[in-house]
Amino acid sequence: LDYDKGKGWHSPRVIPYQPITLDPAAKIFHYGQSVFEGLKAYRTNDGRILLFRPDRNFKRLNLSNARLSIPELDEELALDALLKLLTVDQDWIPSSEGTSLYIRPFIIATEAALGVAPSTQYKFMIILSPVGSYYEEGIHPVKIYVESGYVRAVAGGVGNAKTAGNYAAGLKAQEEASEKGYSQVLWLDGVHKQYIEEVGSMNVFFKINGKVITPALNGSILDGITRNSIIELLKQMGITVEERQISMEEIYQAHQEGTLEEAFGTGTAAVISPIGELHWRDEQLIINQGETGELAGKLYETLTSIQLGRIEGPKGWVVELPKS
Ligand code: PMP
Repeated sequence: LDYDKGKGWHSPRVIPYQPITLDPAAKIFHYGQSVFEGLKAYRTNDGRILLFRPDRNFKRLNLSNARLSIPELDEELALDALLKLLTVDQDWIPSSEGTSLYIRPFIIATEAALGVAPSTQYKFMIILSPVGSYYEEGIHPVKIYVESGYVRAVAGGVGNAKTAGNYAAGLKAQEEASEKGYSQVLWLDGVHKQYIEEVGSMNVFFKINGKVITPALNGSILDGITRNSIIELLKQMGITVEERQISMEEIYQAHQEGTLEEAFGTGTAAVISPIGELHWRDEQLIINQGETGELAGKLYETLTSIQLGRIEGPKGWVVELPKS
């Protein structure tokens, strides 16, 4: 789909995967005006193809568009385009356990003009790639580095948009954490370097004294679709969920007192990722003996069973692709 000012979004088409040509002055290269989404299609045991809450991805894409001064997309049209694209060749959608088709819708600014102003031309594309399970042996605890130096997002910035610059801003910290043996970074707020935000590509949850706490949507973290789904599932399980500000000091205290029972991240790629260890300042906080917690395990099982059509989830969560 292309966009030209005055003409709107136009020319939808499905073409074979191939490189595209852009002018070297295209605004995406210089000012990072772009947004993207990520979701998965799953093949069920009985051969159906299911998407998980795709409406929320296109809604979030438009929220990102609004923040990046990119023109709004018709959400129904975008979802319809995705369904049409997926019906072109369903053989691409893998069927073995733990595999899925990763779907990456994105928009880039293509106008060739060096002035710092929103582009008047864009391209909306959807690319697809079969993926294996995030972790080879299923769910698996990770070691996370709590970042006290670099800052990724601040209130009023673009932290709650899914835009390239957020990920660029995190690369250096991610690289340094990997060198130290940690798989991802946990970001703290940019002002106090104290309040927990999110992990590189996951939202984060803590179980303290039987209650589950997750940082509130404060304008600088992503409104994760998995986060939203987990909150809903926890409520259905009768577990108290608090969406509020939570500091590293509070986590540290709970760890010292032995009330920090579990921690886990949530996201489309990892689904649920138990956190076995947090490195904060000079402290190594081992959580649940570095093992997958009972709650994280149960949530993983429930969510993947809904996504794979084995059990019924809340109304509207699963969208079935028409047969091609
Ligand atoms: N935070 C960030 C920064 C992310 O990139 C992602 C992955 N999209 C998430 C959280 C999790 O969001 P979702 O559950 O929608 O995949």
